[in-house]
Parts: sequence; C-alpha cells; structure tokens
Amino acid sequence: MEPILCPFCGGINILQDDDYSIELDIEYWTVHHWDCLDCGQSFDKIEILPATNTFEEINESTIH
Ligand SMILES: [Zn+2]
Repeated sequence: MEPILCPFCGGINILQDDDYSIELDIEYWTVHHWDCLDCGQSFDKIEILPATNTFEEINESTIH
C-alpha cells in the first residue's frame, strides 16, 4: 500500500474507509475515501476505468 498524505495538512494519521464502485454505461468508477484524524478533513480519490467488459460483450454479440 502506497503511503498517503492528507492533502490539507500533510498529516499521515488518515483513516481509509471501504472503497465502493459505481458502474456506469461506459465507465467503471472506483471511489477511495479517507478521513484525516489530524485536521478532520475528508478527501476522495476516484479512479475511472472504461467498462471494457461491456465492450467485449458488444463485440461478441456483433461477431455472432
Ligand atoms: Zn489533515
């Protein structure tokens, strides 16, 4: 796990909540959420991936 610093105060006493995912039509979002124990701020990091599985399904149905 890479070290993560609070973007507000630079503190390292941060608490990571459970990740959660949002699946859209063409994108798949993974949301990471942290709470800083030093300054009380919370911050998110969102990873957006193309929903490749959906495209593969479309290609397969086109081929067949
Ligand atoms: Zn902080």
